[in-house]
Amino acid sequence: MKIDCITLNHIRVPLVEPFRISNGVIAEKDTILVGVQSGGAVGYGESSPMSGSFYSDDTPESVWDCLTKELIPRVLKQRPDSIESINALFGTVPGNEFAKAGVETAFWDLEAQMQGVPLWQLLGADRKSVESGLAVGIYPTIRELLLAIERCLVEGYKRVKIKIQPGWDLKPLSEVRGEFGAIPLMVDANCAYTQQDLPRLKALDDFALMMIEQPLPRKDLEGHARLQALLQTPVCLDESAEDLSTVRKAIALKSCKIVNIKIQRVGGLHQARAIHDVCEQSGIPVWGGTMPELGIGGAQTLHLAALKNFTFPTDVQSSKRWFVDDIVEPLLEVHDGIFTLPSSPGNGYRINHQTVEKYSVRHERFS
Ligand code: MG
Repeated sequence: MKIDCITLNHIRVPLVEPFRISNGVIAEKDTILVGVQSGGAVGYGESSPMSGSFYSDDTPESVWDCLTKELIPRVLKQRPDSIESINALFGTVPGNEFAKAGVETAFWDLEAQMQGVPLWQLLGADRKSVESGLAVGIYPTIRELLLAIERCLVEGYKRVKIKIQPGWDLKPLSEVRGEFGAIPLMVDANCAYTQQDLPRLKALDDFALMMIEQPLPRKDLEGHARLQALLQTPVCLDESAEDLSTVRKAIALKSCKIVNIKIQRVGGLHQARAIHDVCEQSGIPVWGGTMPELGIGGAQTLHLAALKNFTFPTDVQSSKRWFVDDIVEPLLEVHDGIFTLPSSPGNGYRINHQTVEKYSVRHERFS
């Protein structure tokens, strides 16, 4: 592939309701849509950090700066012409995984279009459907939490994930169990606890959860290993699983029994698949997490999640679950808790240019 030009579009779409996790809240989704044009084809990717940097250090502004000042000038100078060469080039730039993911995944989309195959096939997957799970944030009251779950469950989601933090854990969980019975249920703490909280985390064993996601700080692999030894419930790493070598270390330390793979957090599909492969070889099942991205990034996670070691439902949900509008046609839509993967070449979801224009904050073209 010969790169003709790269376009960036910073898009901001209102959420249907604010999304609160243990360390912050957002009411709008910011994403940077990356288009890589080669001949008549355009591959698309998303660089999709949370605004306010409460999931990682990356913000829409820092990612925009990295793309415009670092990554795109390098791409246009070196002209990588394959997925391997874009990964080799980005391997020389430390950090900035969210920025890299936008460009790297656009290369995958382009390559799949050029080969005339859907992205899942280029990735080596052979499943054509992916189970979806509902994720809900932290609410001002337990009643609002229960109503939110009830409202969304009509779409048939295959499990429910609730966000927890100290003071919002045992009580909401027992109410959710009381209201919804033995539904597949898990929790995500987004690093909100410390090793002083081990007894409280141990009490989570009583709720028969599928997993406890990222209870302790990102760097605390040893703490997670101590906790996992104490718990019957599997520990799942998200924020900690930032690259292949850290995942290898976490597996060796027995810090977790499950890994959440996010394309954004690890800098693209090549790394994400490599982490999937290492986990598979080690008997560690994985699933696909989100930021949540708009439809392009969401669809990429669906394609990735068709790989066979993706064992648990993905966090990708219907576009309308999160966003007042989305940039793809058709919208992402769950039916009875299942996404059917497109069979057309590339990502399989087209860009809705009207929506992109409507929610565009800034735009730039590089050639
Ligand atoms: Mg998480």
